[in-house]
Amino acid sequence: MRIRIQTFNLVVFIMMGLLALSLWSVSLYWLNQQQNEETVATQRENARQQLNQLQLQQRDWLQNRWQEVRYGIADATDKDRRHAFLNQFIQRYPQLRSLRLTNSRIGLTQSGSDFNACRQAMLAAVAQATQPAIFDCPLQQQYLIGIAGRLNQAAPLPDLVMLMPYFSFIDDFQKQSGREIVQVSQAGEIISFREIRLQQGEARFIHFGYTSNDQLRGKLSLLIPVQNFNQLWLSQVIWVVPGLLLLMFMFYRLFYRAYVGPLISLSSKMHKVMRMYLPGQSVEKRHLAPGLSLLNTYFLNLTHQAKHDMLTGLNNRSMFEERLQQALDDDSQLKRKYALVFIDIDQFHGVNQRLGQFIGDGLLKQLAKRLSDGIRESDCVSRLEEDNFAMLLEFREDDELSSLVEKIYQALIQPYHVYGREIKIAIRMGVATYPEHGQDANELALRADHALLKAQKGEWPVVFEQDEGDNSDFSAFTVIQSIRKALVNDEFKLVYQPVIHLKQHQKRYLEALLRWKDEDEHRHSIDRTIELAEKNDLIKPLTQWIIESACAELQHLAMDDMQIAINLSMIDLHDDKLPDRIAYSMTRYSVKPNQLMVEITEGQIMQDPQRVIEILKRLSDMGISLTIDDFGTGQASLTYLKNLPVEKLKIDRSFVKDMVHDIDDSAIVEATIKLAHTLGKEVVAEGVENSEIHELLVQMDCDYVQGYYISYPLEWDQIHAWFEHSEAKTAS
Ligand code: C2E
Ligand code: CA
Ligand code: CA
Repeated sequence: MRIRIQTFNLVVFIMMGLLALSLWSVSLYWLNQQQNEETVATQRENARQQLNQLQLQQRDWLQNRWQEVRYGIADATDKDRRHAFLNQFIQRYPQLRSLRLTNSRIGLTQSGSDFNACRQAMLAAVAQATQPAIFDCPLQQQYLIGIAGRLNQAAPLPDLVMLMPYFSFIDDFQKQSGREIVQVSQAGEIISFREIRLQQGEARFIHFGYTSNDQLRGKLSLLIPVQNFNQLWLSQVIWVVPGLLLLMFMFYRLFYRAYVGPLISLSSKMHKVMRMYLPGQSVEKRHLAPGLSLLNTYFLNLTHQAKHDMLTGLNNRSMFEERLQQALDDDSQLKRKYALVFIDIDQFHGVNQRLGQFIGDGLLKQLAKRLSDGIRESDCVSRLEEDNFAMLLEFREDDELSSLVEKIYQALIQPYHVYGREIKIAIRMGVATYPEHGQDANELALRADHALLKAQKGEWPVVFEQDEGDNSDFSAFTVIQSIRKALVNDEFKLVYQPVIHLKQHQKRYLEALLRWKDEDEHRHSIDRTIELAEKNDLIKPLTQWIIESACAELQHLAMDDMQIAINLSMIDLHDDKLPDRIAYSMTRYSVKPNQLMVEITEGQIMQDPQRVIEILKRLSDMGISLTIDDFGTGQASLTYLKNLPVEKLKIDRSFVKDMVHDIDDSAIVEATIKLAHTLGKEVVAEGVENSEIHELLVQMDCDYVQGYYISYPLEWDQIHAWFEHSEAKTAS
């Protein structure tokens, strides 16, 4: 480890050094470039000024020479003296190519017969001038500058003309500036060229063009030496490298050894510790990563460990308390209700002792998984200690909480499979709710604990804490559990309420109604039982039990023409298998299709008409007749009514109950009867409690009646007697 870190350091330092060196090189290159540009620009400007100056001097010089000749000639009184003067003059100034005096008494020509070629330019320049005028012109592929003027003011043409090479000032320039002109070209032709070999980037060419009358007369190119980058780099690198090394050394001493080094060594130690604690996790690769990354991982793990349970990965007690406190403090959502649920495994010590710690741990892990799988995002689950778990559930209605707790309870009591062993455990749960059972976390926890204690002692595995006069209704939970238990232990029964035809006494049937066998123990209404069974996935097995029992009892009744109506719930109507199951039970107990009827409420049809109609059609096709129950309460559309394979409408008892005194109710009942008859359906009135109602219904031409006036729901073994008695009564 130590060596690896050293190698790592070395690599990092070399890389850093190379990086610094290349950064320095790039900036040096850039700076050099800038500086060279600047040099070239200033040198160009200097040269230009110098050349301009020299050009002006050239003109002055020409003018001075012209005057010199003029005075010289004026002083010479005779021809010989003039000749002597001119000869002397020409020897003194060899740069003068041509000197001509025309129309004069001297008539001396230094050279050149081609002067005519320049004549035009000269004449143009002299035309307006009173003083001698400067002009330039090409001559014999050379470019010349000249001066022309009149010695004799009366002469028609200039009589003193001097010419010299245009670029004669270049020699002065070279002498003065010490700079060499590399190339001179004139009228498109190179007239002088100096070949030079240059190292790349050593010098830069600059050019000056000379134009006259918009025509390029000639060009000068000269060379400006600039700094060569390679040389510069080589000359400086000797100082820079040691400087960098020194800097890096200082960095290492001050920063790396003081901060980074200790961090790396600390994190590598932590890493070792971490591997001991988390043997399963692969952290090997991290050896190569920088120490800081190790440290980060370590701290992340540390924070996780501080808030989570090591075995199950759930929140630990302190995290849970924090979440609980947060939830209760959060008064932004005043309508929120919370339930604190404590969960305990019955006899967990026994499991540990019998099967060993390993299996015990495996069991806890699985249980934790079921708990966290079952919760919603708003909920929180934690392991407080050993086999004690806690949950914080958010809920709005008491029934919602009952269902939630039931779901969790059912999930937890399913058998566990740990290392190939099947383990069944009993679970105890205590539930307290906020704000009913405590205003703060502590109080709430005390009450949940109290409920758990009751669960551990009492016969119910799940106890909801409840105060005297507490109007929260967690009886739902007891009912749900009772239904489950009742289905297994056969604690339900059916009672049968006769429904009789008002005119044809042989037409009658029984409506099967569900009851608890032990009504003292189960005081809640059967309506509520059905509602909770529907909400908690229990209605299917319950309906199945009802169908089976009704068919069995129908067979035992041995009354061939007797029919039984069964009430179905909405969820049954969503079950595609229902018709098959009914058919199966009918065959099993030799029940004929016309002996079975089903009742569904009007509201149920309207919830999902398409689907319901499909199932109802299948039932009707089997020969089972249908009744719409609680008619008048569910706003069924007439279209559906017309199309449904329905035989009877049962007017809801809320209309029937008061129809003697309430004209509205009686009008509704009467209208319903008429409507049903128009649609070709029969009418049943339920809730017939006295003779007045009975009488009125007879008058209104109702078909069937049902109610306490006719008969209370009958036990199965009372049916025979009741019908014998009633038939005897009608016969008499
Ligand atoms: P429902 O289908 O309208 O059943 C008729 C209810 O009226 C029964 O109450 C019955 O006891 C009651 N009753 C009968 N005659 C009179 C009377 O003259 N006056 C008054 N006030 N009430 C009378 P029960 O048995 O408590 O059932 C209540 C509801 O529970 C039923 O209403 C039905 O919706 C549901 N239910 C009952 N048994 C079953 C069942 O086996 N399966 C399904 N899915 N639902 C059932
Ligand atoms: Ca009914
Ligand atoms: Ca009804």
